[in-house]
Amino acid sequence: MSPVARYGAPRADRPSAPAPARTEDGNDWTWGACWGWCERPWLRVLWVGSATIPGGQVADLYYCGSCVRRMYRRVQSHARPHTHLRVLDCGQEEAGT
Ligand SMILES: [Zn+2]
Repeated sequence: MSPVARYGAPRADRPSAPAPARTEDGNDWTWGACWGWCERPWLRVLWVGSATIPGGQVADLYYCGSCVRRMYRRVQSHARPHTHLRVLDCGQEEAGT
């Protein structure tokens, strides 16, 4: 049995660059609609995070394998140095320097 590369796990060839998830790679893929670019209604999807809208409603976001990879490339192309977040008195977060 080969080792499973979990989403977010370091890659052997680039220890600091985790690979994007792939369908049936051992992560918790489920069936449902893709919230990504393709908007397909029924396929294997992976929870990639949650979103909160004004008013406090929260939804879980599920992406298919293609959209996970597209999001991965987009984040790579728009990557910025890591910034620390600090909590303001009003409860909102602001990027620190
Ligand atoms: Zn998709």
